[in-house]
Amino acid sequence: MRSDQIMEKADRLMATTYSRVPIVLTEGKGCMLKDAEGRTYTDFVAGIAVCGLGHAHEGIAEAVADQARRLVHVSNLYYTEPQIELAQLLIEHCFADRVFFCNSGAEANEAAIKLARKYFKDRQSPEKFRIITMADSFHGRTMATLAATGQAKIRKGFDPLLDGFDIVPFNDLDAVRKAITKETCAIMLEPIQGEGGVQCPAQGYLGGLRELCDSEGLLLIFDEVQTGMGRTGRLFAHEHFGMEPDIMTLAKALANGLPMGAMLAKEEVARAFTPGSHASTFGGTPLVSAAAVKVVKTLLHEGVLENCRKVGRYFRERLRGLEEKYDFVREVRGKGLMIGLDLTCNGVPVVKGCLKRGFLINCTQDHVLRFVPPLIIQEKEIDSLIACLDALFAEMTDNKP
Ligand code: PLP
Repeated sequence: MRSDQIMEKADRLMATTYSRVPIVLTEGKGCMLKDAEGRTYTDFVAGIAVCGLGHAHEGIAEAVADQARRLVHVSNLYYTEPQIELAQLLIEHCFADRVFFCNSGAEANEAAIKLARKYFKDRQSPEKFRIITMADSFHGRTMATLAATGQAKIRKGFDPLLDGFDIVPFNDLDAVRKAITKETCAIMLEPIQGEGGVQCPAQGYLGGLRELCDSEGLLLIFDEVQTGMGRTGRLFAHEHFGMEPDIMTLAKALANGLPMGAMLAKEEVARAFTPGSHASTFGGTPLVSAAAVKVVKTLLHEGVLENCRKVGRYFRERLRGLEEKYDFVREVRGKGLMIGLDLTCNGVPVVKGCLKRGFLINCTQDHVLRFVPPLIIQEKEIDSLIACLDALFAEMTDNKP
């Protein structure tokens, strides 16, 4: 079928939830993608910060194929080895003692929200159920995570939302302090906001939240669905800030594109979940777990985190060159290979221009160009994108009235 026929059919048959870029992607390798017309693209989206190790990764393909030939799924009524190997690998490399596996970021956050409530119920503090979250945050599209999400445009049309979330401005410790009541049980946030426009925490902010949680007896929940699994140059973004949460959620890059989420917690907190408290039919199947085991080992032992830090630094430097050159470039933000270029104008024409020139990039909040390429990307690919952006920005300057 031709691309235009596929797109016409999709627009007729699929739920109208997405406004898609008009290309049909058929295959990929590393940081490259190919469409049905044979055009190639350098991928700076990576399935929205998912394919950290790039497309068609040999090691992952092998791990998945090998596992698929042996055992795909049996449910969590039984023990399976890949799941336990993954649990051990994750726990060895973070603050947590236990992990619950699910299938997506929203599900991981649902688990975290339920765990926080249950923890205080078990401690005879049933009045504590409210969670403080941040403006411009994004935690998912299920009813609880929607209520936790601090963006009116995402919540619009779904009232009444689940009660129990108090939204305060990001990077404002005082606002959090003022929002705490005897009903508050937790503070939940992304260490670096992704969908909110790649917003980094101010110096001392996350440490301040940790201290506040300790002094007020609250749980600190980090949503590392987007920032986790090496995206910022460390396995988990909070490692940059010298502090730890009580609960952390992961998804996106965990299995390099196979659907998988995880909620990790310290022993004392994790124990609030008992048999029957929570469950997921597909959570942590042998198949996705085998992929994720390969992801974690590759990130840790094949120089991927180092590459992410090095190339990320280079990328930001090159973008700063554009910031100096063009007055409509407001700011370069981010860590590792989670990078935002804040414009004073709409970024959508830039996304379209990049597409025409063979680069996939993405835009959040209408004016922040977001770059979340595979973590294996190299400087020469960055140079090509910078040349493309430079040419587009020069055209935009020429066309200004
Ligand atoms: N949390 C964060 C920080 C995210 O960026 C996302 C997705 O973009 C989610 C949660 C929701 O993840 P999912 O789409 O897998 O449910």
